[in-house]
Amino acid sequence: ARHPSIPLPVDLFGAGRRNSAGLDLADRVVLRETVAAVESPSRLREGLGEGRASSATSTVAHLPPPTPPARGRGDAVARAHAAFPAWSATPVTQRAACLDRLADLLEQHRDDLMAICVQEAFKTIPDALGEVREAVDFCRYYAQQARDGLQPVELPGPTGERNVLRFDGRGVWATIAPWNFPLAIFLGQTVAALVAGNSVVAKPAPQTPRIAARAVELAHEAGVPKDALILLPGGPEVGAALTADPRVMGVAFTGSTATARKIARSLLEDDTRPIVPLIAETGGINAMIVDSTALPEQVVADVVTSAFRSAGQRCSALRLLLLQEEIAGTTIEMLKGAMETLRLGDPADPATDVGPVIDQAAYDKLMAYRARAGVVKTLDAPADGLFVPPTLVQLDRIEDLTQEWFGPILHVATWPAGKLAETIAAVNAKGYGLTMGLHSRIARAADETEALAQVGNLYVNRSMIGAVVGSQPFGGEGLSGTGPKAGGPHYLHRFVVERAVSVDT
Ligand code: GLU
Repeated sequence: ARHPSIPLPVDLFGAGRRNSAGLDLADRVVLRETVAAVESPSRLREGLGEGRASSATSTVAHLPPPTPPARGRGDAVARAHAAFPAWSATPVTQRAACLDRLADLLEQHRDDLMAICVQEAFKTIPDALGEVREAVDFCRYYAQQARDGLQPVELPGPTGERNVLRFDGRGVWATIAPWNFPLAIFLGQTVAALVAGNSVVAKPAPQTPRIAARAVELAHEAGVPKDALILLPGGPEVGAALTADPRVMGVAFTGSTATARKIARSLLEDDTRPIVPLIAETGGINAMIVDSTALPEQVVADVVTSAFRSAGQRCSALRLLLLQEEIAGTTIEMLKGAMETLRLGDPADPATDVGPVIDQAAYDKLMAYRARAGVVKTLDAPADGLFVPPTLVQLDRIEDLTQEWFGPILHVATWPAGKLAETIAAVNAKGYGLTMGLHSRIARAADETEALAQVGNLYVNRSMIGAVVGSQPFGGEGLSGTGPKAGGPHYLHRFVVERAVSVDT
């Protein structure tokens, strides 16, 4: 009774149940009818401002009734717990083969998946394509990493015994995903836990349950046993119940720093519970430092990409542009001109650069801040809809930016020549440590930044978003997260227990 039992996903998908974004979860069953969904993209219309008031009732009007639940009521964690022994005993090569098959299925269903990302998360077409590609990359990369790194290894030594180090699943993992990468990060966390031999209860963000539901369907089709991967859509109360369950043996979370803290506390609350790992990927106040040797056109292009693409809704996005005083005036003028070329509009239109933000709450928060910030440049937005226009805010001091604004709002400040180390220190002092950028043609400046920047991902003379799985492992430190790096060679090892077996021969 101490731990509320968690109903099955089928309950949450029951007719008439809505997530916190007002989306009727029953329409999950029509994912196969993606064409219809795209022809009548209700949530997309909401983002575009059409019929926002009526959307709560009209969301599924055109959709067929939900399929009856395949199973009865139950408890998601209990089922995943029961499925664990068989799945963890499945050879790692077979688990990896499921991920490879899932990658193939994602590719086969690419267009449908992209359409759901556009409709549900307002992704632009290039961003939706990036989602599917990254999800495929995560599956293939972790499959290979598992084959290479999770098989038992024999350890040499002087003991005269046979010593073997095994890597075993820990039990049930909870994976809790963000809405900004509702396919790639949702699946990345989940397949990592699975291939490492764990069963998983996967909770998508309340704004984006349908893309997650489709991903889980495909994972089951790829051979992951139904109970080894259970979808559990819902809001914060569902997440809280999930992490409070003592049968959960690990949590992989991507979202806000504040929520990561709550999860960490809840994992430690019960004195009788095992101490379990938390992998948290959180936010950042990401800075790009530009000196007077940088190539201005490249700087401006990379700033626009880093700050405004994906409507600034990436953890990696540029929030604070730091220009050496000598070039600040010209760079800001060029940047203002480049911002003029950005097209805001329907994300389903391939010409759109910046779509709506995720929901009304995000819109209200960002617009209220924009109204009181020192705006030096902004754009007109379509009159109706959740459009936050790309905006440039001038700061007097680096220290003036004290929180992450998760949208297309870029801050700019200056730094004096010869003070690179002090400038980096001021950024480090914010306590976050996700991404940092440097634009400079001086090799020493790059070396100094590399030595001093306390960030997980440093980008020199390029944009700061779009880390590539396997090449640019992604994740931060400090207030930005616990590591390890997603898409990196050490990620899977955090999902296992290591066991040494010594046999006298
Ligand atoms: N991996 C993404 C990137 O490099 C960001 C992930 C996130 O926003 O959580 O842009």
